[in-house]
Amino acid sequence: MTPVEQLQARFAYMFQGESISLEFHEGWLPIFREACEQIDDVLGENKRGFHWVQVKEKYGSARFYYHLGTSRRLVVDFVDGQGGHALIKTRTKEGDSAADRIDAIVDHAEARTYTTCMVCGAAAQTEPYDGYYLTVCAAHAPARRFRCPEEL
Ligand SMILES: [Zn+2]
Repeated sequence: MTPVEQLQARFAYMFQGESISLEFHEGWLPIFREACEQIDDVLGENKRGFHWVQVKEKYGSARFYYHLGTSRRLVVDFVDGQGGHALIKTRTKEGDSAADRIDAIVDHAEARTYTTCMVCGAAAQTEPYDGYYLTVCAAHAPARRFRCPEEL
């Protein structure tokens, strides 16, 4: 089994129900796994229909979207010279302390992917590469296609 398959077997309920797309980057997998473990602890016996709806990279960092029963968050991103940031994040469910704790776990996990190489997990920064934002360490940064004349 791949590490992703192991995770999906261990927390099967998190990967059931309808989802848009689930894509995983190896360097961020430990962060995602830790979030799954923490959420599982918060939920306890009653999983409340929690499941991942979309896991993806956006503007060089990870986005982990989920449903808790019929509740979900609204997340609006904007992008600037430092990559993408969440501009608006609503709470998954007002007045629900477990939902608030899950929101905080996911916020923390997403924030960690801003400084973690998506390929290997080493320390990294989100930077633009030829129009794309990537969070990669020096070893995994793509070669720059264009160089300034003074570098040649
Ligand atoms: Zn790396």
